[in-house]
Amino acid sequence: MHEQHFLLSAKARSLSIPQVAEWDEETVFKAFRDMRWAKTGGEPCCPQCGSVAHYFSKRRRQWRCKDCGHTYSVTSGTWLHSTNLPLKTILFAITLLADGAKGISACQLMRYLGVQYKTAFTLYHKLRSALLATRHDQPAMKGEVQADGAYLNPYSRPANKAEDRPEKDIKSSMQKVCILVIRQIGEEGDGANRTLTYKIPTENAKDIRHHVEDNVQRGANVVTDEHPAYGNLAINFKHTRVNHKICYCGPNGENTNQAESFFARFRRMLKGQIHKVSPDYLNYYANEVAYREDTRRWDNGRIAFDMMRRMLTLDGESPFRGYWSRTNVSPAVATDDEPAGLAAAA
Ligand SMILES: [Zn+2]
Repeated sequence: MHEQHFLLSAKARSLSIPQVAEWDEETVFKAFRDMRWAKTGGEPCCPQCGSVAHYFSKRRRQWRCKDCGHTYSVTSGTWLHSTNLPLKTILFAITLLADGAKGISACQLMRYLGVQYKTAFTLYHKLRSALLATRHDQPAMKGEVQADGAYLNPYSRPANKAEDRPEKDIKSSMQKVCILVIRQIGEEGDGANRTLTYKIPTENAKDIRHHVEDNVQRGANVVTDEHPAYGNLAINFKHTRVNHKICYCGPNGENTNQAESFFARFRRMLKGQIHKVSPDYLNYYANEVAYREDTRRWDNGRIAFDMMRRMLTLDGESPFRGYWSRTNVSPAVATDDEPAGLAAAA
């Protein structure tokens, strides 16, 4: 029988840096194999032809397919393809990232790992993009669902000379981005258990209806505020509205508190950890917060395993592969609601 998955064993149920530090190369390598090839119990499959027949070079930790001759490593053909980082360093990074309830900055990650800023940034963005690309892995939301939108102003640097700065409130000159959040409320009364976010140009009826209908079962109870953009949700859903001008919790207990708490965490993350975000990437950060909200009761070993699994089981290229050597991320893997070819952050 195949041994129990390492990261799911009692040892790793809560994961710490000293613990990971003690693992030898072989343990780390096995953990990666188990995560990448979970379906075959850690047995390598050729990413080119799917064959499990192979030769193994112990020294290079690479396999050579007996059927097609393709040479591959444990990260080949995944979103960690061609990473130069040692596997253990990746595991350190993911342990740190699993622990950071509000995320950590790429600068902090750089210092912890002793790598270049670009390396830390790229690894973190590969994780963020994997979380985004795999988020539709559950059935449509049902029961009570809360939806709300908020404008977030990612940092934009004011002009150097006072005469170049706008006269009015500096905020009005910033590019505003609306994030729509849709949250499914659990039946146990312990808040939301699933969260999806979308970047939309404004809080508008067309985009809101599209995203809610895409992700929520017909007939579910969708709770929103009184904003007119949510008006046509009544066509396909039971629509409950809370008039925030009068109260935050209606006579029957209806509220959008879970949607509000998402934005509270997101704002704290932007302010406390990230500091500045290009509007092009706001979507990645919003989804990261959604993921952290949804996994808030998991132990960190489980979160780390889940993060790794998402990066190691996605075929093709991460949009952030080779990020620093070109001006645009790969359009081939643009996500459902992210236009192809994002502008690179300065
Ligand atoms: Zn092959």
